[in-house]
Amino acid sequence: MSLHVETFAGGPLATNAYLVFDDGSKQILIVDAPMDVDQPLQDRVSELGGEVVLLVLTHAHWDHIGTINELRSAFSAPVAAHPLTKDRLEHPDSVMLDLPFELAAVSPDRWLHEGDRVPLGRHEFTVMHLPGHDPGHIGLYSEPDGLLLSGDVLFPNGHGRIDIPGASQTDMAASLGRLVELPGDVTVYPGHGLPTTIGAEPWLSGYKRAQP
Ligand SMILES: [Zn+2]
Repeated sequence: MSLHVETFAGGPLATNAYLVFDDGSKQILIVDAPMDVDQPLQDRVSELGGEVVLLVLTHAHWDHIGTINELRSAFSAPVAAHPLTKDRLEHPDSVMLDLPFELAAVSPDRWLHEGDRVPLGRHEFTVMHLPGHDPGHIGLYSEPDGLLLSGDVLFPNGHGRIDIPGASQTDMAASLGRLVELPGDVTVYPGHGLPTTIGAEPWLSGYKRAQP
Protein backbone atom coordinates (compact mmCIF):
# COMPACT_ATOMS: atom_id res chain seq x y z
CA MET A 1 0.00 0.00 0.00
CA SER A 2 1.90 2.97 -1.17
CA LEU A 3 1.67 6.68 -1.77
CA HIS A 4 1.55 8.10 -5.27
CA VAL A 5 2.43 11.73 -5.92
CA GLU A 6 1.10 13.46 -9.03
CA THR A 7 1.98 16.99 -10.15
CA PHE A 8 -0.49 19.58 -11.50
CA ALA A 9 1.24 22.80 -12.57
CA GLY A 10 -0.76 25.96 -13.20
CA GLY A 11 -0.83 29.75 -13.25
CA PRO A 12 1.61 32.31 -14.71
CA LEU A 13 4.56 30.97 -12.65
CA ALA A 14 3.84 27.27 -13.36
CA THR A 15 3.30 26.61 -9.68
CA ASN A 16 2.95 22.97 -8.66
CA ALA A 17 -0.01 21.49 -6.86
CA TYR A 18 0.50 17.94 -5.65
CA LEU A 19 -2.08 15.21 -5.38
CA VAL A 20 -0.89 12.57 -2.91
CA PHE A 21 -2.91 9.36 -3.18
CA ASP A 22 -2.83 6.46 -0.75
CA ASP A 23 -3.93 3.44 -2.76
CA GLY A 24 -4.77 1.48 0.42
CA SER A 25 -7.39 3.82 1.87
CA LYS A 26 -8.03 5.82 -1.31
CA GLN A 27 -7.49 8.95 0.74
CA ILE A 28 -6.05 11.98 -1.03
CA LEU A 29 -4.11 14.97 0.22
CA ILE A 30 -3.73 18.03 -2.01
CA VAL A 31 -0.85 20.42 -1.46
CA ASP A 32 -1.14 23.99 -2.80
CA ALA A 33 -3.72 25.45 -5.13
CA PRO A 34 -2.31 27.44 -8.05
CA MET A 35 -4.58 28.87 -10.72
CA ASP A 36 -6.02 26.59 -13.42
CA VAL A 37 -5.58 23.31 -11.54
CA ASP A 38 -9.04 22.95 -9.98
CA GLN A 39 -10.71 21.23 -12.94
CA PRO A 40 -7.83 18.86 -13.71
CA LEU A 41 -7.65 17.93 -10.02
CA GLN A 42 -11.41 17.29 -9.86
CA ASP A 43 -11.20 15.09 -12.95
CA ARG A 44 -8.32 13.11 -11.51
CA VAL A 45 -9.94 12.65 -8.10
CA SER A 46 -13.09 11.26 -9.76
CA GLU A 47 -10.97 8.98 -11.92
CA LEU A 48 -9.17 7.63 -8.84
CA GLY A 49 -12.45 7.30 -6.93
CA GLY A 50 -10.68 8.75 -3.92
CA GLU A 51 -11.64 11.06 -1.09
CA VAL A 52 -9.79 14.32 -0.53
CA VAL A 53 -9.25 14.51 3.23
CA LEU A 54 -7.19 17.71 3.49
CA LEU A 55 -6.02 20.69 1.41
CA VAL A 56 -2.70 22.07 2.62
CA LEU A 57 -1.14 25.42 1.70
CA THR A 58 2.65 25.42 2.07
CA HIS A 59 2.59 29.22 2.30
CA ALA A 60 0.43 32.20 1.40
CA HIS A 61 2.05 33.55 -1.78
CA TRP A 62 -0.51 34.41 -4.44
CA ASP A 63 0.69 31.83 -6.95
CA HIS A 64 0.00 28.97 -4.49
CA ILE A 65 -3.52 29.88 -3.36
CA GLY A 66 -5.55 30.98 -6.43
CA THR A 67 -8.02 28.05 -6.54
CA ILE A 68 -8.10 27.00 -2.88
CA ASN A 69 -11.68 28.17 -2.31
CA GLU A 70 -12.84 26.30 -5.44
CA LEU A 71 -11.05 23.15 -4.28
CA ARG A 72 -12.56 23.42 -0.83
CA SER A 73 -16.11 23.55 -2.20
CA ALA A 74 -15.47 20.90 -4.85
CA PHE A 75 -14.09 18.38 -2.36
CA SER A 76 -15.77 19.52 0.89
CA ALA A 77 -12.37 19.16 2.50
CA PRO A 78 -10.80 21.42 5.15
CA VAL A 79 -8.01 23.86 4.30
CA ALA A 80 -4.92 23.85 6.52
CA ALA A 81 -1.97 26.25 6.76
CA HIS A 82 0.49 27.66 9.28
CA PRO A 83 -0.95 30.35 11.61
CA LEU A 84 1.59 32.92 10.37
CA THR A 85 -0.13 32.91 6.97
CA LYS A 86 -3.35 34.29 8.47
CA ASP A 87 -2.91 37.98 7.59
CA ARG A 88 -1.72 37.40 4.06
CA LEU A 89 -4.50 34.88 3.36
CA GLU A 90 -7.04 37.42 4.59
CA HIS A 91 -5.62 40.10 2.28
CA PRO A 92 -4.04 38.22 -0.59
CA ASP A 93 -2.03 40.19 -3.10
CA SER A 94 1.37 39.99 -4.63
CA VAL A 95 4.27 41.35 -2.64
CA MET A 96 6.19 41.90 -5.85
CA LEU A 97 3.88 42.95 -8.65
CA ASP A 98 0.44 44.33 -9.40
CA LEU A 99 -1.63 41.41 -10.46
CA PRO A 100 -4.13 41.85 -13.30
CA PHE A 101 -6.75 39.91 -11.33
CA GLU A 102 -8.33 39.80 -7.90
CA LEU A 103 -7.56 37.06 -5.43
CA ALA A 104 -10.25 35.96 -3.00
CA ALA A 105 -9.50 35.93 0.72
CA VAL A 106 -8.93 32.51 2.27
CA SER A 107 -9.81 31.44 5.82
CA PRO A 108 -8.18 28.13 6.72
CA ASP A 109 -10.24 25.64 8.71
CA ARG A 110 -7.26 24.31 10.60
CA TRP A 111 -3.79 25.52 11.61
CA LEU A 112 -0.72 23.34 11.22
CA HIS A 113 2.25 23.82 13.56
CA GLU A 114 5.75 22.39 13.70
CA GLY A 115 5.56 18.70 14.64
CA ASP A 116 1.85 18.25 13.90
CA ARG A 117 0.92 14.95 12.27
CA VAL A 118 -1.10 14.76 9.05
CA PRO A 119 -2.40 11.22 8.50
CA LEU A 120 -3.21 9.83 5.06
CA GLY A 121 -4.61 6.31 5.36
CA ARG A 122 -1.98 4.33 7.24
CA HIS A 123 0.69 6.84 6.22
CA GLU A 124 1.59 9.96 8.11
CA PHE A 125 3.30 13.26 7.40
CA THR A 126 4.99 15.47 9.96
CA VAL A 127 4.69 19.22 9.61
CA MET A 128 8.01 21.05 9.39
CA HIS A 129 7.86 24.82 9.91
CA LEU A 130 10.43 26.09 7.40
CA PRO A 131 10.47 29.91 7.39
CA GLY A 132 12.87 31.95 5.25
CA HIS A 133 11.01 32.35 1.95
CA ASP A 134 7.85 33.19 3.89
CA PRO A 135 7.34 33.33 7.69
CA GLY A 136 4.41 30.90 7.59
CA HIS A 137 6.04 28.37 5.30
CA ILE A 138 5.63 24.66 6.05
CA GLY A 139 6.76 21.40 4.48
CA LEU A 140 5.22 17.95 4.88
CA TYR A 141 7.68 15.15 5.56
CA SER A 142 7.20 11.39 5.70
CA GLU A 143 10.30 9.56 6.85
CA PRO A 144 8.98 6.01 6.13
CA ASP A 145 7.86 7.03 2.63
CA GLY A 146 11.02 9.07 2.00
CA LEU A 147 9.27 12.16 0.73
CA LEU A 148 9.12 15.87 1.44
CA LEU A 149 6.61 18.30 -0.03
CA SER A 150 8.81 21.36 0.28
CA GLY A 151 6.91 24.26 -1.29
CA ASP A 152 9.27 27.12 -2.12
CA VAL A 153 12.08 26.21 0.30
CA LEU A 154 14.18 23.79 -1.73
CA PHE A 155 14.40 23.52 -5.53
CA PRO A 156 16.78 21.65 -7.81
CA ASN A 157 19.99 23.74 -7.64
CA GLY A 158 18.78 26.34 -5.18
CA HIS A 159 16.46 27.63 -2.49
CA GLY A 160 13.37 29.85 -2.56
CA ARG A 161 13.64 33.61 -3.00
CA ILE A 162 14.70 35.59 0.04
CA ASP A 163 14.68 39.05 -1.61
CA ILE A 164 10.96 39.63 -1.04
CA PRO A 165 8.97 41.10 1.87
CA GLY A 166 8.59 38.62 4.71
CA ALA A 167 11.66 36.65 3.63
CA SER A 168 14.68 36.16 5.89
CA GLN A 169 18.13 34.93 4.96
CA THR A 170 18.82 33.80 8.55
CA ASP A 171 15.59 31.81 8.74
CA MET A 172 16.24 30.29 5.30
CA ALA A 173 19.72 29.16 6.39
CA ALA A 174 18.22 27.54 9.51
CA SER A 175 15.50 25.80 7.47
CA LEU A 176 18.03 24.47 4.94
CA GLY A 177 20.16 23.35 7.90
CA ARG A 178 17.27 21.11 8.94
CA LEU A 179 16.70 19.72 5.44
CA VAL A 180 20.36 18.75 4.97
CA GLU A 181 19.96 16.46 8.01
CA LEU A 182 17.31 14.37 6.20
CA PRO A 183 18.35 11.12 4.49
CA GLY A 184 19.94 11.66 1.06
CA ASP A 185 17.35 9.50 -0.73
CA VAL A 186 14.37 11.58 0.40
CA THR A 187 12.50 12.80 -2.69
CA VAL A 188 11.69 16.50 -2.57
CA TYR A 189 8.63 17.84 -4.39
CA PRO A 190 9.10 21.61 -4.81
CA GLY A 191 6.62 24.41 -5.46
CA HIS A 192 7.97 24.94 -8.98
CA GLY A 193 9.84 22.65 -11.37
CA LEU A 194 10.85 19.02 -11.13
CA PRO A 195 11.40 16.83 -8.06
CA THR A 196 14.88 16.30 -6.68
CA THR A 197 16.42 14.45 -3.72
CA ILE A 198 18.30 15.79 -0.70
CA GLY A 199 21.40 13.86 -1.88
CA ALA A 200 21.23 15.36 -5.38
CA GLU A 201 21.75 18.87 -3.97
CA PRO A 202 25.40 18.98 -2.82
CA TRP A 203 25.24 22.78 -2.25
CA LEU A 204 22.93 22.04 0.70
CA SER A 205 25.88 20.75 2.73
CA GLY A 206 27.00 24.38 3.08
CA TYR A 207 24.07 24.77 5.48
CA LYS A 208 25.06 21.90 7.78
CA ARG A 209 24.78 23.12 11.34
CA ALA A 210 28.02 23.31 13.27
CA GLN A 211 28.39 20.46 15.73
CA PRO A 212 28.05 21.69 19.32
ZN1 LIG B 1 6.45 31.57 -2.70
